[in-house]
Amino acid sequence: MPRPLVATIHLAAMQHNLSIARQCTPHARVWGVVKANAYGHGLARGMRAFAAADGLALIEVDAAVRLREMGWQKPILLLEGFFDETDLPVLAAYHVQTAIHCHEQIDMLERAALASQIDVHLKMNSGMNRLGFQPNAYRAAYERLRAIPAVRNIILMTHFANADDAVNVNLSLGEQVRRFQGATEGLPGERSISNSAAVLMRPDLPSSWVRPGIMLYGGTPGGKTAEEFGLQPAMTLSSEIIGTQNVGAGEAVGYGSRFVVDRPMTIGVVACGYADGYPRHAPNGTPIMVAGERTRLVGRVSMDMITVDLTGIPGARIGSKVTLWGNGMPIDEVANAAGTLGYELMCALAPRVQVVEE
Ligand SMILES: *Cc1c(COP(=O)(O)O)cnc(C)c1O
Repeated sequence: MPRPLVATIHLAAMQHNLSIARQCTPHARVWGVVKANAYGHGLARGMRAFAAADGLALIEVDAAVRLREMGWQKPILLLEGFFDETDLPVLAAYHVQTAIHCHEQIDMLERAALASQIDVHLKMNSGMNRLGFQPNAYRAAYERLRAIPAVRNIILMTHFANADDAVNVNLSLGEQVRRFQGATEGLPGERSISNSAAVLMRPDLPSSWVRPGIMLYGGTPGGKTAEEFGLQPAMTLSSEIIGTQNVGAGEAVGYGSRFVVDRPMTIGVVACGYADGYPRHAPNGTPIMVAGERTRLVGRVSMDMITVDLTGIPGARIGSKVTLWGNGMPIDEVANAAGTLGYELMCALAPRVQVVEE
């Protein structure tokens, strides 16, 4: 028998979440973002669940090729563009669109003299200061691209630093939109600006293509809970209690004796640890569901196990079902307790975890 730890991927939830993105931005076309192995859910599953998307967007060139080999016929976009000159013939052969964020990429495009044309997404650094051309250098980059015969459409693209935080004092979404609008005024081409947070909270933005990721997997990008946005969890990570201990007051649990029992307590041992992708930095008190009841993590997360408080769950015993996150236990709550994001937990699901789909 395999370990009782299983990640169940809910394809219907992914389809539902895509329909929420459509409802929010009915006039936009939707890239289903499937980078990082579809945020840990599996590239092939992402492709099937997002069959109704207008295109799939990702980071990895090899995964873009795999999408074509698996039969995806609609557009594919590399969100960071290509990384090497040798990628370019691959993009042309497999009809993969690419972001362009620096002059070095344009140099490579000029030199490549591709046999067929490709669509490019010209990325503006509108304030995040990660990838992209500064607003005052954007038009020159546009003109350079326009002069390359292998470039077909140029889509105008930027990315928000704080779409989930309308009042950020360092860089508001409104300021990024102003910079983008100002620098692209009069330039022909479709616009691609919105991530999940903008789709959910600023559906009014003039984004002809939207790029939702986290919301498709049932995680919140911030602002409200996933449930309040009408999103459904796409991954449930479940396991079982594989051991119990009755521990007396004053005794400690696990490595480093981080948790000391203050009154006699039954501890449950769950088959799931940091080698499965559970965050090692999760503190005492991180929520978890055992036998349908919410309880808490106690003691340090080990490589293959965690320990939980079974007080108040008299029915819990070896074999009781545990939900680490997913249906009934929002991943964002677990992430929040551990000082991280649902994004990181999904993406970090370890290869040794058995994955099933429903
Ligand atoms: C990952 C990514 C997205 C999706 O972001 P979410 O917050 O998951 O919706 C959108 N655009 C770009 C450029 C990305 O890299």
